[in-house]
Amino acid sequence: MRSISKSENPWQSHDWKVKTLISVTRGGSRLGFTCRSCERTFTHMTGNNQTWATDGHDVALAENISQRWLSENCPVSPVTGDVADRLNFKNPQAESVRSE
Ligand SMILES: [Zn+2]
Repeated sequence: MRSISKSENPWQSHDWKVKTLISVTRGGSRLGFTCRSCERTFTHMTGNNQTWATDGHDVALAENISQRWLSENCPVSPVTGDVADRLNFKNPQAESVRSE
């Protein structure tokens, strides 16, 4: 386990490159964040202030990966384990709409 310093915001430790994916939706703007150092990617919705990890193509990763990446400081260089993390999608069947 790693401890998180309360005085530091892990989010600020990354070197972000930001692009607007969708400028205005009902939920606000949808922004794509890519770190120049560790190459982790996130999507941020300005409307509800939600942020989650993505595979680099705006596909959400599993909740536990989002939580972990958001809680970690920038590893500065790409982490080998991230390759496996990027295959762990939040919605494995994202393409098909299922009703449960
Ligand atoms: Zn980073």
